[in-house]
Amino acid sequence: MLPTGEDLEMTIGLEAEALARPGTGAAASGALREPLPMPALEYTDEVARETAPLYERVKTVIPAIEWPVMAPYIKAINDLKKTRNAVILAHNYQAPEIYHCVADIKGDSLQLAVAATKTDADVIVQCGVHFMAETAKVLNPDKTVLIPDRRAGCSLAASITGADVRLLRERYPGVPVVTYVNTSADVKAESDICCTSSNAVEVVESLGSDRVIMLPDQYLAKWTASQTDVKIIAWNGACEVHERFTGEELREYREANPGIQIVAHPECPPDVLAEADFTGSTAKMTSWVEKNRPAKVLLVTECSMASNVAADNPDIDFIRPCNLCPHMKRITLPRILDSLLTMGEEVTIDPMVAGNARRAVERMVNLKS
Ligand code: SF4
Repeated sequence: MLPTGEDLEMTIGLEAEALARPGTGAAASGALREPLPMPALEYTDEVARETAPLYERVKTVIPAIEWPVMAPYIKAINDLKKTRNAVILAHNYQAPEIYHCVADIKGDSLQLAVAATKTDADVIVQCGVHFMAETAKVLNPDKTVLIPDRRAGCSLAASITGADVRLLRERYPGVPVVTYVNTSADVKAESDICCTSSNAVEVVESLGSDRVIMLPDQYLAKWTASQTDVKIIAWNGACEVHERFTGEELREYREANPGIQIVAHPECPPDVLAEADFTGSTAKMTSWVEKNRPAKVLLVTECSMASNVAADNPDIDFIRPCNLCPHMKRITLPRILDSLLTMGEEVTIDPMVAGNARRAVERMVNLKS
């Protein structure tokens, strides 16, 4: 017997509810892995109405003329997240239209790594760089983790391999290895514990050793060494974005902007940190600005972060030397949409490597909690 109109409506309703419920329904069974058709991307009255509250959040950092191009993508992505039972993680360096308009979980590497363990979604879309997507997969082996552009790398992660870590262990037998989260799963798997720029000092001091090997960022290692009595053996990696800042440049900004506060990321070279009023991770930089509320501030880090913090603090004047991370900027609204439509590109890691990397990440996370 054909279903009545009422039965049919109910069936559709139950399916929709199953899709929205974490870990259940077609998404969990894999039925929704098939490619989906490209939605219409027109700036209709309906799209304008639905996205208006999102534009309110970013109107101070995104010109109104750009919104009709972005809004249809934003609506399509937010609709598709429900269809795929997906969650979007976005690093602080993502552009404001991603960070404020489609992301569900936002933050620095540590915040994203911890939040990734708590989501009930079937699919994680990592709007960051490849090592972050690997970390999400390491902590969520049963979930599908997607990165909208596999080429989104990182100069720090590219500076070292697992084989390099094994050679370092041979050269410094018995010395524990602390690895910054900005590394591949292969490198994490060879390490004793991970750290972020938020907790580097705490992690180094937790090991009870008078010497540690700290990889791979030479500047984070130097900054950490300046904060602790533990002797640090460093690697010569660097972030290509933070390395471009100079102390001289900051002195010029200070001269041109009397009273300005300078807040820097520890991936910057020492002469830059010497000019800073405060040094901390992206999360600590944001909380410092929100707590101290300087009239004028310069965030010495990737350019988009200042836009994201400025959108939440329109009364603060942000001076922006715009050093963009080319890898982060590979992640765009069209690529996120394509990722959700095609379920690409999926991140996979050898189970043995993933297990060893998870041990190093979890040791850090447990220390934090
Ligand atoms: S900003 Fe630097 S550390 Fe961060 S992803 Fe880009 S290159 Fe890597």
